[in-house]
Amino acid sequence: MTVNLLNLDAAGLNDLFARMGEKPFRAKQVLRWLHRFGKGDFYAMTDLARSLRMKLEASACIQPPQLFSDKLSEDGTRKFLFDVGAGNFIETVFIPETDRGTLCVSTQAGCALDCSFCSTGKQGFNRNLTVAEIIGQLWQACRILDCDSHGGERGISNVVLMGMGEPLANFDNVVAALRLMLDDNAYGLSRRRVTVSTSGVVPAMDQLGEECPVALAVSLHAPNDELRDRLVPINRKYPLADLMAACRRYLAKAPRDFITFEYVMLDGINDRNVDANELLGLTRDVPCKFNLIPFNPFPHSGFRRSTAVRMRHFADILMAAGTVTTIRRTRGEDIDAACGQLVGQVLDRSKRASFAPKSIPIAELAP
Ligand code: SAH
Ligand code: SF4
Repeated sequence: MTVNLLNLDAAGLNDLFARMGEKPFRAKQVLRWLHRFGKGDFYAMTDLARSLRMKLEASACIQPPQLFSDKLSEDGTRKFLFDVGAGNFIETVFIPETDRGTLCVSTQAGCALDCSFCSTGKQGFNRNLTVAEIIGQLWQACRILDCDSHGGERGISNVVLMGMGEPLANFDNVVAALRLMLDDNAYGLSRRRVTVSTSGVVPAMDQLGEECPVALAVSLHAPNDELRDRLVPINRKYPLADLMAACRRYLAKAPRDFITFEYVMLDGINDRNVDANELLGLTRDVPCKFNLIPFNPFPHSGFRRSTAVRMRHFADILMAAGTVTTIRRTRGEDIDAACGQLVGQVLDRSKRASFAPKSIPIAELAP
């Protein structure tokens, strides 16, 4: 059977090469060719013996997700859409800023967690992405942007797992991809420049802390269980007291770290002054920063974005209590690349009505 080498982290490549009767340093060479230098062809790996290249040609392949479209926003944000087969599409967004370049990566096609304000959730769950499809988004973006994977001026200096899907519901594949991001022979990103965003899958947060403690963002969105049960249904399984305890455990081994709490601003739902005060009480014992996200509307969501003045007031209350609070600048709106808007629109544009989950009438996906 042909092995897709993009599915393997360093340990996986070592195992494969051991089974082929090759020395471990050969595995390292191939890892560097693949990820550090972005080669997609064994014949470009010039310091491998010809016999090894032929062996690899016969038994392995390098198969990234296929680029379907590439759009550039007026603000420089760039959105890549990848076709991962059987009618599944995933999105990757590159966000250039003056001091960094961030790649926002997807981890699942669709999502099972069904948060009420998220268009990915409204699509339902299709499948987990493979390691090759997760790391392949970074691999492809580095090639397309022609950037030095170590964050040159126009390069990718940060990765956030904030695209489609719940990363911690695809744990093993996500961790293998994270290891490649951190590996000095691959992308060499520091663990603080790689962020996993979760809606709060508590047991997997503990496991991540053990296995690969990268930066953690937690999608909070509500200051109490009653509201969060409605907005983020996984809260019914892992309520806020458990989630806050998991955040504290996550930080216990890394005292200089903090949790980023994401909070989507929904007009009249979670954006009142009392909500801000309750939020401060809830998070009192967790070293954290707040990132307020203006809600990005999609057809028939039933929610509205909070006004700019309301967001400012809300942020002021959090900051007056001494917390670091940012209001996320919305990027890439003109190309539907903003948080929570990913792919939903594709269903309509490409008229692939058959991809829509049965529970959602297709009319609801249309603008
Ligand atoms: N599943 C993970 C990561 C992907 S979602 C999570 O939920 O954390 C990334 C972020 O976008 C989350 O904070 C999510 O709540 C937010 N988001 C989802 N839909 C949104 C929308 N319509 N507008 C603004 N942010 C949204
Ligand atoms: Fe899934 Fe995150 Fe969207 Fe919730 S917000 S449905 S967890 S992708």
